[in-house]
Order: sequence, then C-alpha cells, then structure tokens
Amino acid sequence: MTPTTPTTLTLDDRFARELPELALPWRADEVPDPRLLVLNDSLADDLGLDRDWLRGTEGVGLLTGTRLPEGTTSVAQAYAGHQFGGYSPRLGDGRALLLGELVDRSGRPRDLHLKGSGRTPFSRGGDGLAAVGPMLREYVVSEAMHALGIPTTRSLAVVATGRQVYREEVLPGAVLARVASSHLRVGSFQYARSTGDTDLLRRLADHAIARHHPAAAEADQPHLALFEAVVAAQASLVASWMLVGFVHGVMNTDNTTISGETIDYGPCAFMEAFDPATVYSSIDTGGRYAYGNQPLVAEWNLARFAEALLPLLAEEEDEAVALASESLGAFRTQYSAAWSRGMRAKLGLPDGLADDVAAGIVGDLVQLAQDNHVDHTTFFRHLGAAARGDAEPARGLVLDLAGFDAWAERWLAVDPAAEVMDRVNPVYVPRNHLVEESLAAATAGDLEPLERLLDVLSAPYDVRPGAERYAEPAPESFGAYTTFCGT
Ligand code: AMP
Ligand code: MG
Repeated sequence: MTPTTPTTLTLDDRFARELPELALPWRADEVPDPRLLVLNDSLADDLGLDRDWLRGTEGVGLLTGTRLPEGTTSVAQAYAGHQFGGYSPRLGDGRALLLGELVDRSGRPRDLHLKGSGRTPFSRGGDGLAAVGPMLREYVVSEAMHALGIPTTRSLAVVATGRQVYREEVLPGAVLARVASSHLRVGSFQYARSTGDTDLLRRLADHAIARHHPAAAEADQPHLALFEAVVAAQASLVASWMLVGFVHGVMNTDNTTISGETIDYGPCAFMEAFDPATVYSSIDTGGRYAYGNQPLVAEWNLARFAEALLPLLAEEEDEAVALASESLGAFRTQYSAAWSRGMRAKLGLPDGLADDVAAGIVGDLVQLAQDNHVDHTTFFRHLGAAARGDAEPARGLVLDLAGFDAWAERWLAVDPAAEVMDRVNPVYVPRNHLVEESLAAATAGDLEPLERLLDVLSAPYDVRPGAERYAEPAPESFGAYTTFCGT
C-alpha cells in the first residue's frame, strides 16, 4: 500500500452517518503557531499515512483538525457517564473531536480523534483546551501500554498550539491526535438509553456489534451477545492492568470502552510499592479507583452498561434484568481466569501444574509482595533471575527473608520457566518520576529526554545496556506521587 497523501486521504464518517443523534458536526479551533512535538512514525505507517507529509503544513493541519480533506465532517460525540458514582446525563466531547475513520494496514477501521481542539457545545464550563504536559503524558503511557501488549488507544502525534492554557499556572497548549478502534463507551449507551429512543439504542448496539464484536451478530440474541463480548473484553483488559500494576485512576463509565481498549490517560500511574490501596489521583479522595478496586469497578461499570441495554434484551424488564445479571455473572470467572493465567506466566509455572498448587504459590507470593511493599515491576523481573539460580536481587527487595526463602523453595521445586517470565515481566514501565522528568523537559523545550524514554518503553521486555536508570524505582527524594485530573 502506498502511503496516503492529501489527494488520496479520505476519512469515513460512518459514525456520523449511522448515528447522527450522537454526532454534532463541529470544527477544531484555529492554531496560532503549530509545532509538531512528537510523531509516531510506525503508527503513521500502520495507518498508511506518509510520515513526511504529516510533518509538513498540510499534515500538521490534519493533526490539529484545522485542514481536513475535502468532504470531511469532524464531529463532537455525545455521551453520558457515571463519574465517581454520580450520573451526568450529558458529558460528550468537551474538548475533543472525531475526525473520521481510516482503515489500517491490516484492514481494521480506526478512529482518528483529537483532544484539546477547542470548545464544543459539550464543553460546559471548560475551555476545550489541553496542555503540552498532559497530552505528552497520554502519548508516553498509551504507547508504553501498547508495547506491553495491553489493548489501548494509540497516540499518533502531539502538536503544540502556541496558545496559552490557564490552569493553576499558565501552560503551553497542545493537541493530541489519538487513534482508537472506536470511541464507543459505556457512556455512549447510557446517553442513547436516556433519550428514550429505542431505535437509536438499537442502531448504536448494531453499530458496536459490526465494529467490534461481529460474532455477536450470529448469536440467537445478538444484543445479549454484545453485552457478553464486552464483559469478556473488559475482564481480560482489567486483568492485564492488574498484572503490570497499572492504576487507571478515573474509571468512570465514560472512560470504559466497548472495544475493550484502555482509554483516557488522565491521572493514571504505574504502581511502585505493591499495595492494593494505591491511589495516585488527587481527586480520588475516597480511593474508589484504587489499584485493588479496579476489577470491582469494571464490574460495576458493566452493570451500568447492562442497564442501558435492557430495552434491547427482552420485552419484559424482569426478564431482561435476569438475562443481564446472568451474563454479568461471567465477569468474575473470566477475570479470575485471565488473572490466574497471567500470574502463572509471571511466575513461570509449568502448564501441567495443578491449579490448587499454582493458586497456593501465587497467593502466597502476592501476600509476600504486599507485606513487604516490594517494587512491583522490579520484583517480578528479578524473580526471573531467581528462576535461573540467582535469588539475591529479588531477595534483596524483601524484609521478611525467612518468608521469602520458604516461598522460593516451594516455587523453585516446580521448576519455573525463566524464559516465559522474561516475556511477561517488563523491565521498563513508564515510572512516574521518569514521565514527570521528561514532560518537564519537553514543556521547557527539550524533547531529548522524552524521545529517549519513548525509545526504552518501546521494547519493555528487553534489557538494554545503558538504560539502568529507567528500570529503577523513583528515588526517595521524588516523594509521594499525586496525579492531577486538571488535564
Ligand atoms: P475526561 O476526564 O478527560 O474523561 O473528561 C470528562 C469530561 O470532561 C468529558 O466530557 C470531557 O470532554 C470534559 N472535559 C475535560 N476537560 C475539559 C476541558 N478542558 N474543556 C472542556 N471539557 C473538558
Ligand atoms: Mg474521558
């Protein structure tokens, strides 16, 4: 496939065509002084977009939504959502726009979407803008998640706008160009349901089936099958977050995708010292979205999805509720199975090992990690060395040496596979102090630390000589970390 140039680029407006009630045609703000800060060359290649063209005036125009191919209608999408448990009937893209769909190299449709592109009718009190730091943060963390093999939206580019953004301080503005298999959320269904228009709800569900879960179309009850497919996708997604120590931070229903991709990197962070109560977000004072709560929250969000779908599931509400409850019941089993499978791999447990023996080894290790507040990423990676005969690096992270030795003896007796462990226990994750350091430098005009960090994170399972500091926990002086939603 030859890369796309301006004359051949078309952005499909299927979402706006099929669901006009959820798509408000809207244009991006003009950008006074655009400057491309980072471009994802390999993602551009995947999308069939020409790298050099993207770096030029027209390309940057596309990446900021200010110069769109003829016939393109960018739209703000409508959605609702439960935020920290409270329902907002009208959220929607308050500072984002869907430009349209592209087809990637493997033939999959992908949304091209902007964040920070100006006010829309959904902006409420907000300014519609985004700052350089938080948009680069989404870029770094989403690309790290992708490299870790976790389903996620991707980041194509961040363009500084030359506009000032007023937060607690004055910050340089930016637009993020983001790519997703779609931007359909649980909140999209909540919005459609709240209109009382069952035909709209049905069209949305059918659109989601066609786009994400085509096998559901063949089921006896396609809309129930859609629900079940989303339950399965979210169970698997959240298990993969838990296995790498990712804390999303703002798991509202409007940030829960129908595709099963991670979306909206606001106050997210990777856990260092192992503790289920870990919270980073400054606004999550109750710990609702703490690391250890994430599976429960996902299940709660899926219950809200089920409520939105009820009119499609059965004529009688009682029957619809019974069907949805039964299907939601699969979440716990699927989550546990995915998590246990992942933990077996993280500890290199042989396939034939009996489930109860594996569960004992895994459970005791988790307890040990928690009691000793070990650094999550380093500890698991060091266990790979322990499986090869050098237990000291892992042992050195633990205070309860007798506890560790007793556990390790039991574990080593099952002959763990170190090569398997090294493929699933990353050396490098976007550690909070490294992310902050690179964003501060970028905001001040130096992009080198960001580029270096992105490079290391692009191959997270491979030890890289010279990159030792990227594998180390934050220094004591970094202090307790708090993330801010004031994105
Ligand atoms: P988020 O926390 O990014 O998932 O956003 C939640 C909701 O707040 C969405 O409806 C956003 O469009 C809206 N929002 C967030 N920041 C802004 C902003 N600066 N201006 C307008 N709307 C915003
Ligand atoms: Mg959001």
